[in-house]
Amino acid sequence: MKTINIAIDGPSGAGKSSISKAVAEELGFIHVDTGAMYRAIGLYALRHDCISPEQMISHLPEIHIELKFIGGVQRVLLCGEDVTDYIRSPEVSMAASAVSAIPEVRAHLLDLQKKIASENNIIMDGRDIGTVILPSADLKIFLTASAEERASRRYLELREKPDCPSYEEILKDILQRDENDMHRETAPLRQAEDAVVIDSSDLGFHLVVETITRLIKEKLD
Ligand code: C5P
Repeated sequence: MKTINIAIDGPSGAGKSSISKAVAEELGFIHVDTGAMYRAIGLYALRHDCISPEQMISHLPEIHIELKFIGGVQRVLLCGEDVTDYIRSPEVSMAASAVSAIPEVRAHLLDLQKKIASENNIIMDGRDIGTVILPSADLKIFLTASAEERASRRYLELREKPDCPSYEEILKDILQRDENDMHRETAPLRQAEDAVVIDSSDLGFHLVVETITRLIKEKLD
C-alpha cells in the first residue's frame, strides 16, 4: 500500500511539532516527531557521560530507540524505558543538538524513520526530512519564524514553570541550536528545493494549521 508522507522541516521553536500534531489529528495521520529520537539519545549521552563523539559512537549498539503511538500520540522509548517526559529540558535540548551532528547517530535513526513512513500515513517533522529521510514526500513544508519570535513564544510557554530561563537565555539557546543545525556537515538544516516555505512570524497557530491542512488536501485531490 502506498502511504502518504508529509515532511515538515524548520528551525528549533518554529512550532513544527504542535502544528504537525494538530494537522495530523485533523487528517487522521500519525505525527512523527523525529526530534524526540535525537532527544532520547541526548538523554542517554547525559546519563552515561558520553562527552566525545567516539564515546557516543561506541555506545550506539546498545541504544535502542522505539516509537509507540498511544491514541495517535507519540511516546519515545529508550532501551525499553518510556522517556517522553524527560526529554524537554534545556540540558537535553543542547545534548540532542550535539549528538545529532554525529553522522553515525543520524545513520542509527535513519532506517527506523524510513520504516515508519513506509508503513503509515504520516506527518514527520525534523530538520532533514524533506532533504534526506523522505526526498519523495508527497508534500514538503519548510516552517520558519524569526529567532526573536521563536524565543518569545518559548518564553511564554515556559514562564509559569519553576526555573524558567530568561527571554535572553532562551534566545541565545535558539541561536546556538540554529548555528549547530545549519552548519553541521551531515544533513544540515536547509530547505528542500521543492518545499513550500511558511514564515509563521506574523501568523497565528490556527491559520498555519489551516494552511498546511489545505495544502495537503489539495495535493491529495
Ligand atoms: O525538534 P527538536 O528541537 O525537538 O529537536 C532536538 C534536536 O534534534 C534539534 O536541535 C536538532 O539538532 C536535532 N534534530 C535533527 N534532525 C531531526 C530532528 C531533530 O538534527 N530530524
